[in-house]
Amino acid sequence: MLQTQQNQSYKNKHILIVEDEPSLVFTLQDTLENEGYQVSVTHNGNDALAVIAKKAPDLMLLDIMLPGMSGYEICKKVREDKHLFPIIMLTARDQEIDKVTGLNIGADDYITKPFGVKELLARIQARLRRSHTYVKTGPISELQLGEVKVDLINSVAVRPDGNQELTTREVELIRYLYAYANEPVSRDALLEHVWRYEFSTNTRTVDVHVSKLRSKIELKPEDPHFLVTLHGVGYMLKNV
Ligand code: CA
Repeated sequence: MLQTQQNQSYKNKHILIVEDEPSLVFTLQDTLENEGYQVSVTHNGNDALAVIAKKAPDLMLLDIMLPGMSGYEICKKVREDKHLFPIIMLTARDQEIDKVTGLNIGADDYITKPFGVKELLARIQARLRRSHTYVKTGPISELQLGEVKVDLINSVAVRPDGNQELTTREVELIRYLYAYANEPVSRDALLEHVWRYEFSTNTRTVDVHVSKLRSKIELKPEDPHFLVTLHGVGYMLKNV
């Protein structure tokens, strides 16, 4: 019952696939249409931009290695044109190193090929659910937390008592909490969206990382002003 209701709300959402590998296009299109999505397909950047100019999709699945413009260039262009729909990049395993580049130019998520249908659908639904937050915040490059400047491009917290480097995970954590600034965020939501249910992670993993991050971005981590714990609920980024 719940499943049916969930699918219902995504019906008629328009997804644009930009991918040049015919077998993958076939699988993606078939899967998404079976779920009730409206699907458009293009095989290169110019065609993708033409589709978007005509009618922006609700979400785009974007391959990185494409003939002509790369996925990165397309993503950058789309954001420069002020389109805020979610973009999920499709990446080969050896391209994972470019993840940070992609997130900084405005992609929302990555999925590594080969991927399972269930995982893909879960990611798409998660992005459609929270796409309003992108409209709210847009991609941020830095945050001023009191005397601490958090530079999300260079992954560093600039503090009066010295700089602290941030890990990729910590940057993602801040981005996620910022998208929901002044709202409670549960540990489960962080596991789902920041850790994406990676093997052997649990809510304890989240607590450890949040605590470490707090020690980098708060001048008094034992009495936090920005990244606070909500007992029995989770975390909240406030005063931003
Ligand atoms: Ca390709």
